[in-house]
Amino acid sequence: MTPKTNILLIEDDKSICNFITASLESANYRVTCAQTGKEGLSLATSLCPDVYLLDLGLPDIDGMDVLTKLRTWTSNPVIVISARTKEQEKVTALDAGADDYITKPFGTSELMARIRTALRHSRPNTHARIYKAGDLVIDFEKRLITLEGSEVHLTQIEYQLLTLLAENSGRVLTYSYIMNAIWGPYVDNNNQILRVNMANIRRKIEKSPAQPKYVFTEIGIGYRMLESET
Ligand code: CA
Repeated sequence: MTPKTNILLIEDDKSICNFITASLESANYRVTCAQTGKEGLSLATSLCPDVYLLDLGLPDIDGMDVLTKLRTWTSNPVIVISARTKEQEKVTALDAGADDYITKPFGTSELMARIRTALRHSRPNTHARIYKAGDLVIDFEKRLITLEGSEVHLTQIEYQLLTLLAENSGRVLTYSYIMNAIWGPYVDNNNQILRVNMANIRRKIEKSPAQPKYVFTEIGIGYRMLESET
């Protein structure tokens, strides 16, 4: 029997704790709840959980500070649970090392999907060398992209951009993360070049670029590519 995945939930709202615990335990996860940032950090060191679910609004320490502290010693996935709807706060959390975020109120199936995605990316030995979703296939080794079986021709930058998103499929990548990964840290902070390249990619891979099926815009935050089926 494989050991259960350990999840540490740091959340001060008791009803949300109970709801998440019940849903995750029925899906065979082991859940431990902490109701303050301090308790969360102390349980984090004793339990070494596989995944953290972290509320940003905690009674003692700000969730962002908890995240920063966690990131000094663990690279295990942290999914931020936030009632905050401001884009900038999500961007700050993602750029500070959160793997993803989920906004309250959320459904169980959405939470499960985010946890599975985060776990998949934290276990790189199972990383597929093929991206496949719907009619779109990217073979990273052959550097070949096909849509409905026909080859899609991308420029070098478009290819780098699409593979970055595909290798992180299911997760949101912030504009600044993408800019830094593709154009380096000294590029102008204006996202125009990114938008132009994304528009070109969408024209090539999306049937209806205004209603994308593969690469979604998270307004004010970044892009998220449809999770690979492989
Ligand atoms: Ca809270």
